Amino acid sequence: MAELEGLEFGKSDFVLLDEVTMEQFMENLKLRFEKGRIYTYIGEVVVSVNPYRQMDIYGNDTIAAYRGRELYENPPHLYAVSDAAYKAMKRRAKDTCIVISGESGAGKTEASKYIMQYIAAITNPSQRAEVESVKNVLLKSNCVLEAFGNAKTNRNDNSSRFGKYMDINFNFNGDPTGGHINNYLLEKSRVVQQQEGERNFHSFYQLLRGGSDDMLRSFHLQSDPAVYAYTKEGAATATSNNDRSSHRAVMSALEVIGFSKEEINSVCQILASILLLGNVQFESDSESVQIRGLEAVGHIAELTATDPEGLGKSLLFRTVATGGGDVIEKGHTEQQACFGRDAFAKALYDRLFGWIVGRINSVIEVKDYNPVLHGKNTVIGVLDIYGFEIFENNSFEQFCINYCNEKLQQLFIEVILRQEQGEYQREGITWRHIDYFNNQIIVDLVEQPHKGIISILDEACLTVGKITDTVCLDSMNTKLVQHPHYTSRKLSPTDKTMDFQKHFRIRHYAGDVTYSVEGFLDKNKDLLFQDFKRLMYNSSNPVLREMWPDGQLSITEVTKRPLTAATLFKNSIVALVDKLACKEPYYVRCIKPNEMKSAVLFDDARCQHQVAYLGLLENVMVRRAGFAYRQPYARVLQRYKMTCEYTWPNHLMASDRQAVEAIVNHYGFQDDVAYGHTKLFVRTPRSLFALEQERAAV
Ligand code: ATP
Ligand code: MG
Repeated sequence: MAELEGLEFGKSDFVLLDEVTMEQFMENLKLRFEKGRIYTYIGEVVVSVNPYRQMDIYGNDTIAAYRGRELYENPPHLYAVSDAAYKAMKRRAKDTCIVISGESGAGKTEASKYIMQYIAAITNPSQRAEVESVKNVLLKSNCVLEAFGNAKTNRNDNSSRFGKYMDINFNFNGDPTGGHINNYLLEKSRVVQQQEGERNFHSFYQLLRGGSDDMLRSFHLQSDPAVYAYTKEGAATATSNNDRSSHRAVMSALEVIGFSKEEINSVCQILASILLLGNVQFESDSESVQIRGLEAVGHIAELTATDPEGLGKSLLFRTVATGGGDVIEKGHTEQQACFGRDAFAKALYDRLFGWIVGRINSVIEVKDYNPVLHGKNTVIGVLDIYGFEIFENNSFEQFCINYCNEKLQQLFIEVILRQEQGEYQREGITWRHIDYFNNQIIVDLVEQPHKGIISILDEACLTVGKITDTVCLDSMNTKLVQHPHYTSRKLSPTDKTMDFQKHFRIRHYAGDVTYSVEGFLDKNKDLLFQDFKRLMYNSSNPVLREMWPDGQLSITEVTKRPLTAATLFKNSIVALVDKLACKEPYYVRCIKPNEMKSAVLFDDARCQHQVAYLGLLENVMVRRAGFAYRQPYARVLQRYKMTCEYTWPNHLMASDRQAVEAIVNHYGFQDDVAYGHTKLFVRTPRSLFALEQERAAV
């Protein structure tokens, strides 16, 4: 068993701080980071600081040390919460979830992988083949999802550009029987455009750099990403990932998961089509718009198994239903044609990603589970979702992501208060309420029906006629003038950091974010001409057909008012929160120590900012306002009975509770504890410390 840490490594739990101040918190966090102790608790919450170096703390010996142990028996680690979640699931048949949060590059995805690796390592001791295969698919799915959903950004070489929630199902033995992945809002705008220094999704570079010459030739591709409009920007950017070897790993992972050869080939063909599509250009004269370089269109048609003429036409015309019920073809302007092409490329990728996730789900879905025969099927959920984002330019994507973080913070508050309160009530103990900033008001600002920003956006999107982003901003300014968390240049005329036509600002729980409304309406409408959908549905490639079921609708059948991107996202996040709320949650709060990816630099200001907006200090306070530690009587006794003559080697009292009382009285801690129905509650950690020392001295 790993040794508990000495004091030179700082306090392993922030509730042990002498005083709960930001200074002490930061001092402890920094000390531990510098000493290579990247994990620290706040009760059962793990605070993690990205070490930016390989740590020797994830091996089999460490896994063995944490297996089946209680949180306080070992130094803080992801493995300890993973085990706690697993134990709760196995012993008490509770559904649990592990929520991992933090900003981009803070280490969420790495943490989620270590958690899964731990769960895989401690389950299925009898090596049953069908369980091994489920575990294998679950682990391999990470590699595939990262290839298609991650990209190099200026913040993180392997940044997840989608949210991921994975349920792992367990049978009554506590062995994984299957799972389900939910994905949230892939940043598909990245397919057609990236910021300076960033890349498109890894999958494109992997295909170009890792695909065999034969394959590339048959796809009409050249291996240099600089040749393609969509991968040009990131072509020269070095990443820590080797695209070539990753390609091999991804292809083999797809195979292991159970994708057929045809399916894998279709996936690569779609990637190739998108790259070629990006190079399709248009030119116009006074009469009409034409495609420049028809050859590429032929290649795309070949790769997507569609009719080249039909494809050419979809790029230049759209079918519209007139008021009278007639159907006419309307030619694009050059600008509309470019917009249509990019929308098509984004949709192709987005649907490809969704299809891959769905395909993985079909493999790992729990089949033939009979609760009567097999007992309750329990679940551990792992959430790895984008953290709060404040960029120089914040657009629709940041708006959605930050709203999602508000919702998760709301859940965190709810849960922490609810859990604490619930436990005290159950145990018959009175407690003192602590004030906590409740961000419900910001959640409402975004999602409230009729009044919230999403409603205002949707209304603008549904209005016929020329509604611009600026008109929509005006409408927000009028409707939200009173809201304490909303402002804009019009409402704060002296604030020159905002533009009258463009900006609005939300005071998020994590800080102020100024959003530019430019592109909001287009992104919210997420328009894709029906012609493309129909074309794909009529492809003779069954994989493509499967991705485009809505292509079978004719233009007159297409719903006039499809749900907008913001509303769809809101619905998915509300469903996610509902799913999390009915599980017993464990939290991992990730902190990024610096912007340089340095293993030695602890940027005080940056870290403090994250500690503040993650609400960690309040978290410590809540934890301490009540009782820092609580343990069932039997556990306390087992751990400390050797420190007291009345309980060693055995006690003669009527109950464990009385025996624990004897220990407490022996050391004079009476004022520092409360006796619940089943657990001892210790207010300050000092008493526990003293007991630990006595124990060590025995
Ligand atoms: P994003 O929101 O952009 O997806 P993230 O929080 O998921 O960011 P990760 O991709 O997990 O961040 O971590 C970024 C990088 O930091 C990793 O690629 C790795 O180099 C390093 N890193 C993170 N956690 C660890 C760890 N526990 N040990 C070693 N390196 C780590
Ligand atoms: Mg990530």
